[in-house]
Amino acid sequence: GPNDGAPVLIDGNVLAAKALSRFGVDRMFGVVGIPVTSLANRAVSLGIRFIAFHNEQSAGYAASAYGYLTGRPGVLLTVSGPGCVHGLAGLANAMANTWPVVMISGSCDQKDFGRGDFQELDQIEAVKPVSKFSAKARTINEIPRCVAQVLDHAVAGRPGGCYLDLPSDVLHQTVTESEAESLLAEAEKCRLKEEITNVLSSQIEEAVTLLRQAERPLIVFGKGAAYARAENELRKLVESTGTPFLPTPMGKGLLPDTHELAATASRSLAIGKCDVALVVGARLNWLLHFGEPPKWSPDVKFISVDVSKEEIELRKPFMGLVGDAKRVLQAINKEIKDDPFCLGKSHPWVEAISKKAKENVSRMEAQLAKDVVPFNFLTPMRIIRDAISGVGSPAPILVSEGANTMDIGRAVLVQTEPRTRLDAGTWGTMGVGLGYCIAAAVASPDRLVVAVEGDSGFGFSAMEVETLVRYQLPVVVIVFNNGGVYGGDRRSPEEISGPYKDDPAPTSFVPNAGYHTLIEAFGGKGYLVGTPQELKDALLKSFAARKPAVINVIIDPFAGAESGRLQHKN
Ligand code: ADP
Repeated sequence: GPNDGAPVLIDGNVLAAKALSRFGVDRMFGVVGIPVTSLANRAVSLGIRFIAFHNEQSAGYAASAYGYLTGRPGVLLTVSGPGCVHGLAGLANAMANTWPVVMISGSCDQKDFGRGDFQELDQIEAVKPVSKFSAKARTINEIPRCVAQVLDHAVAGRPGGCYLDLPSDVLHQTVTESEAESLLAEAEKCRLKEEITNVLSSQIEEAVTLLRQAERPLIVFGKGAAYARAENELRKLVESTGTPFLPTPMGKGLLPDTHELAATASRSLAIGKCDVALVVGARLNWLLHFGEPPKWSPDVKFISVDVSKEEIELRKPFMGLVGDAKRVLQAINKEIKDDPFCLGKSHPWVEAISKKAKENVSRMEAQLAKDVVPFNFLTPMRIIRDAISGVGSPAPILVSEGANTMDIGRAVLVQTEPRTRLDAGTWGTMGVGLGYCIAAAVASPDRLVVAVEGDSGFGFSAMEVETLVRYQLPVVVIVFNNGGVYGGDRRSPEEISGPYKDDPAPTSFVPNAGYHTLIEAFGGKGYLVGTPQELKDALLKSFAARKPAVINVIIDPFAGAESGRLQHKN
């Protein structure tokens, strides 16, 4: 034929897909359209699983959770302009949580930029405040290097969000296959090596001396320790020294909540009275009351372990150890091994913590034991807790959001394995639930995924139940349906006036909404429950089936409090 002997040409979409595949990407989340549809299709044909969403916001949340769960960048693909803007939510949430994400967006034709092109936006400028690094491929030749850069920067040092801009004209340029091969090989040579900062042994010695001399030591760990996969090192440190520990919400499960040294149920005592706190992969931000009185003792000495030097400089702990949590804990354990110490069960501090925890647990259990109908929050939460522990190992991944639903769930639901809890996180982001469920199911195909969320959290991205059904993911979404944000109309009489006073309250939704029927519209399984027996049956069936399901749990609209436990902020 006429093309015999002519070199085969590939375009920017194919080259980008090749680069992603070659540099280790195996999953992508996103919404296709102009100009990236072909990129997604090419990625799939190269063996990458592409999970197609309805909205980039959910896909972005999914990519961020995938990054956290796997330790590799979660990749979000969006179209230009509005697609990129929707994706910003995912990028920003990843930055807030310090999770590795790469958002890749198509953008308008470079020659038409500035004169009102289709979906035009200065996307590099738009991502600036919510990303740690960005790159734009200005010609097809730059694609492989840019792909390598964003993937590397997302996981380097403190993880976070990166952005890659691919203009539509660049996606349509072509190179020969052999040119593509050499561009890919060149980019591969420039990839960043993992930087390992070794903590000085004198610092490790000093930290161990502080712990050894402490009268009331506490080990606090967060999702940074979970991300670092430091669970074995933490367990060794806790158990060899007999030190009580406190996980942050997403640190839960690194050591089981049921561990005898867990201070979760005696949190106020533990943080209020400890004299030395080793804080591993958790920021002293609002979640930990900034490390300040009155919640913490004014004399507490913090030893902070964090991969980020800026974080340590910001908080000015008594001692800061900059490095990867797993490595730093290994060094601490090694130092202790030469001259071991252990508080022992009868140590007054350990006894005080465990006594208080037992008291609080039995008070909570007394509340939980009651079957309250119409449902409050506690009765269904107990039934869900028992159903989840019935699953055994590998434990389900729990996704949780909502005000009361998340607060009460955090106290009642039990985490026994690392990285099995995803919630609203550092930013208190509502609407993450469905995206997180999809990411969890894709990252851990052997685990059941159970979401326990409020009706308002669910509503942000409820259409993604179709995505669950389309990919047949083993996800059971339990909606605590109390008819609104915080529940029923809680306005005082003086708040109800003006020409629109007969409108429903800003906090309220249609009462008794049939959320379970949404998933049925796509062929998934829906359950409507209002009694303990109905809930138990629905959990039994849906957990056994491991198929997409929504359980619509009708809750008393006046159970729970406005703003959950953050009433002082509303
Ligand atoms: P939590 O919400 O559980 O309290 P944060 O998100 O506030 O946790 O804190 C996590 C911290 O962990 C961040 O400051 C981040 O820099 C840090 N971090 C991330 N990866 C690592 C790692 N590999 N080793 C140590 N710290 C890490």
